[in-house]
Amino acid sequence: EYGMAPEDSSAVRDWLARHEAGFGHFIGGSMTAPGETFEVTAPASGDVLARVTQGTQADVEAAVAAARKAQPGWVGLSGHERARHLYALARHVQQHARFFAVLESLDNGKPIRESRDVDVPLVARHFYHHAGWAELMETEFPGAAPHGVCGQIIPWNFPLLMLAWKVAPALAAGNTVVLKPAEYTPLTALAFAEIARECGLPKGVLNIVTGDGETGAALVAADVDKLAFTGSTEVGRIIRRETAGRGIPLTLELGGKSPFVVFADADLDAAVEGVVDAIWFNGGQVCCAGARVLVAEAVEERFTRLLSARMKALRIGDPLDKNTDMGAIVHPVQLDRIRRLVAQGVAEGAELIQGDCPEGCFYPATIARHVEPASTLATEEIFGPVATITSFRTPEDAVSLANATRYGLAASIWTENVNLALDVAAQVKAGVVWVNATNLFDAGAPFGGMRESGFGREGGREGMGAYLKAPQPEGWETAPEA
Ligand code: NAD
Repeated sequence: EYGMAPEDSSAVRDWLARHEAGFGHFIGGSMTAPGETFEVTAPASGDVLARVTQGTQADVEAAVAAARKAQPGWVGLSGHERARHLYALARHVQQHARFFAVLESLDNGKPIRESRDVDVPLVARHFYHHAGWAELMETEFPGAAPHGVCGQIIPWNFPLLMLAWKVAPALAAGNTVVLKPAEYTPLTALAFAEIARECGLPKGVLNIVTGDGETGAALVAADVDKLAFTGSTEVGRIIRRETAGRGIPLTLELGGKSPFVVFADADLDAAVEGVVDAIWFNGGQVCCAGARVLVAEAVEERFTRLLSARMKALRIGDPLDKNTDMGAIVHPVQLDRIRRLVAQGVAEGAELIQGDCPEGCFYPATIARHVEPASTLATEEIFGPVATITSFRTPEDAVSLANATRYGLAASIWTENVNLALDVAAQVKAGVVWVNATNLFDAGAPFGGMRESGFGREGGREGMGAYLKAPQPEGWETAPEA
């Protein structure tokens, strides 16, 4: 049915069937009875996968109380003991890797190759890495204390990976957590809750409350000691406002419109593959997607030709088919948004080159040319598989085009000239700059934005800093970017 051998997805289908009555929340170490529920669907097929509870304010408060109660015991463990729990979570994710990959692809629509080879391995890696930090707490962060209870709100594009990015450092540092997954994609978080129980994570250390933005707003208003949010700039702004008077630490990982700069001397074949990873990975539903391809005028024609040919070879369709390059768009609402922005771009003069795509909640891989720098397609985050191509003449032009955005999450620079790459990298306003590479993530390297892409870092030492109170060694980022 899903283009896989039946045994591949049967464990997930059995699990969903066992929860046919609906999922509750994970509070204080057990699943609550389902409350008022909403449907969670598979975008590729439109099938209802499960019913999930819409978290109320009372649910959020119960979860915060459970986290509060568990926190002294959790921080009272030695770093080594906390590390053992994080290692156990990592191992359990690996043991159930196939299950998580299939569930993630069903729920989000991303190709199984990505969930299997990228999302799930990076989840395990994140827990292993942060187990290491828990071990080293006493020597690396002497005197630093956790905040207490952390409220964490995550988006739908990397559901389990965003959970890992938030939960692993928070727990390593001795905080306890109330996490709200996105309403489109709550299932891997609920499966993770079962894993946490299975591997003996102390009750209340991790709590998961499902629901939509209202549940998120209740968590923002709750009595938590730190908030971490990944999602849209719009909601980030609301959260910043809501928490302004309370003085609790806040990290925001928001949107982007990242430049992908190709100089004339670049290895063009490699750069073409780079664009595939930059904008067609996860259907472009990636905050740091290289959505604005800036190409040296001298090679623009050739590059566009190579890129179009490569784009048309992408296989779009069933997320559970191992040969699929690009799966479904997460939700019909998101699909409508992509269509609306592209139509606006065309009305403003953009010309489209598009590949094929199946009927349903899918969008074709798209290149947009003749995109004016101030137009919709050049400035708005589309969060879909749409790359714009713009040419430049000089490195100065390239830098000024790259910086012509209100965001500042990531950038990718392609050239064989190392001096040029480093020179341009230093001038591009972005939290992460990749050279002859793109979309590389590592648990040990800090990730995060500047300007309207937010503030704070996740991963590495800086990421740990976000979950600890002073004293802070030099180089920890705590203040918002100007
Ligand atoms: P969104 O902001 O609508 O939702 C994100 C989360 O916030 C969801 O869990 C949602 O339920 C919750 N939420 C919605 N309204 C809320 C409110 N008023 N108060 C509290 N919580 C609320 O974003 P989305 O559509 O789920 O995700 C796409 C966006 O996320 C894109 O703009 C993308 O760039 C961004 N994103 C950023 C990063 C990053 O690391 N910078 C990573 C992934 C996604």
